[in-house]
Amino acid sequence: MNNTPIVTTSALTKVYGSDATQVTALNGVSAAFAAGTFTAIMGPSGSGKSTMMHCLAGLDTPTSGSVLIDGVQLVGMPDKELTKLRRDKIGFIFQAFNLLPTHTAAQNILLPLELSGSKVNPALFRNLVEALGISDRLNHLPSQLSGGQQQRVAVARALISRPAVVFADEPTGALDSRSSAGLLAFLRQAAQGGQTIIMVTHDPRAASYTDRALLLRDGQIVSDIAHPSEDTVMAAMKTLDN
Ligand code: ADP
Ligand code: MG
Repeated sequence: MNNTPIVTTSALTKVYGSDATQVTALNGVSAAFAAGTFTAIMGPSGSGKSTMMHCLAGLDTPTSGSVLIDGVQLVGMPDKELTKLRRDKIGFIFQAFNLLPTHTAAQNILLPLELSGSKVNPALFRNLVEALGISDRLNHLPSQLSGGQQQRVAVARALISRPAVVFADEPTGALDSRSSAGLLAFLRQAAQGGQTIIMVTHDPRAASYTDRALLLRDGQIVSDIAHPSEDTVMAAMKTLDN
């Protein structure tokens, strides 16, 4: 692990809508994420977790503030360049999977490589699908898979191109505890291998696999916990309820 931040955001603000229906989803978030670290983003529903992930990954445009990925400013970047940067450096595991319904599991996993014209690393492919327990589901369509299996296909798709930064929005949300533990161990290993993982989770046990937990409330970071244990995170989350 080195200490140079690969993701840096400052004064990140996102306001949705206008006038009466205006919602401030992010209210001046600043944070830096060192390369090779695994971070949990936590906080009550509606606190801005998904918005923060989307803005950091260049999938949504902040109202103000800056986002640097590997030293490059994302905010204001022309679409074409942004698409290329996302393809080269970022993996995103969506809360709603976003698999292509007409593609098999294997085709979905290999899609990012196809789009960038890169070759698959067969050892990595095998390693991923085995670690995620989907090797016997590769020829199935998403509609033939359970929610948990679809989620694991989405995880494999985000990791197959070995992106420097992986954003995961509740990647264990649809998994049973055994598959969860497997996926979390896998993400932790990816971070140890130098990838930077930023994961939204509600689960204190999932947070205990990470190096750091950031707690959001009302669009602001209210707590930054190093080496979070299940108990520390649970206690910190309780104070948010008040
Ligand atoms: P979380 O992921 O922590 O549950 P979100 O980032 O999804 O929170 O949402 C933060 C706030 O922004 C919520 O109040 C939500 O209703 C609002 N919000 C999110 N997306 C939109 C949108 N596209 N349009 C309007 N409001 C939105
Ligand atoms: Mg969310």
